[in-house]
Amino acid sequence: RLINATTSSSQEEVLERALRPKMLEDYVGQEKIRGQLSIFIEAARRRQEALDHVLLFGPPGLGKTTLAHIIAREMTVNLRHTSGPVLERPGDLAALLTNLEPNDVLFIDEIHRLSPMVEEILYPALEDYQLDIMIGEGPAARSVKLDLPPFTLVGATTRAGMLTNPLRDRFGIVSRLEFYTANELSKIVERSAGLINVEMTPDGALEIARRSRGTPRIANRLLRRVRDYAEVKSNGQVTKQIADAALSMLDVDSTGLDVMDRKLLLSVLEKFEGGPVGVDNLAAAIGEERDTIEDVLEPYLIQQGFLKRTPRGRMATIIAYRHFGLPLPRSGIQ
Ligand code: ADP
Repeated sequence: RLINATTSSSQEEVLERALRPKMLEDYVGQEKIRGQLSIFIEAARRRQEALDHVLLFGPPGLGKTTLAHIIAREMTVNLRHTSGPVLERPGDLAALLTNLEPNDVLFIDEIHRLSPMVEEILYPALEDYQLDIMIGEGPAARSVKLDLPPFTLVGATTRAGMLTNPLRDRFGIVSRLEFYTANELSKIVERSAGLINVEMTPDGALEIARRSRGTPRIANRLLRRVRDYAEVKSNGQVTKQIADAALSMLDVDSTGLDVMDRKLLLSVLEKFEGGPVGVDNLAAAIGEERDTIEDVLEPYLIQQGFLKRTPRGRMATIIAYRHFGLPLPRSGIQ
């Protein structure tokens, strides 16, 4: 199976939960949002009010779910977890909302996938803690207004641009999660290694960190695979050399690009002569969903300078040509 951030087995989810930091001070990196949240949480706690609604966006695996749980724990309230596609009818959302206790956190993952009807009843709930629902059908149908306890909605999405404007406007706190630096990921890997009893040298941790696409979920996943390798091929200790050998075996190259990253870049470089190429053509060429390209693959490749988004489509950069040792096109690169 390819190693990327889109897929996770149920066993992985159990491990992932075990590795989740519980409080804000254990949450590594994302300094800006951590600083903001610590103040807003403290203020809401002192006033004994619900925290303002929070929208978190950014590629998968960067810590949105983790942050939602931390917010609830710091506020000492319950968290209810659901996701956009699960809430099919207004009644599904109404059932969740009417069961909240004062100041609870409702976490909606993939909030951009809410149906318009569900979104409609969410607006007054967010604004005035009021629920407007229709009961019954036909001539007997009537609208009922219910008061809700104050609550905090934490919404997560891969791209803020996919939200409707009225929904986005109802969040008081909007934060974009950034890719992590190698040093930040190194801290995360060391902490996780401690929790799952892996012996590791600092340069072993850094090697895994450097090759994890800036993403904690991938870092934790690679740590477990490197641990397997260290146990079978060596004495169990993760050193730089062991990490390097294990990651090469997993087809993660020296800069941390995985099989899909390379497939995408090589396709732009070779099939489309460096681009520009539209995302749909690219998706067809590499046999991947358009959404996966836009949410998972592209953001990191763009952040690392391998790829550029232009009005005419995606283009490879000089860095991409150099990475694969390919000659630059004679016409140059725009
Ligand atoms: P998302 O909801 O954005 O897809 P998650 O919150 O599920 O990502 O995070 C994936 C994994 O990465 C979790 O198991 C968590 O342990 C780890 N993780 C994410 N962010 C951090 C962080 N800032 N510090 C430590 N571990 C983190």
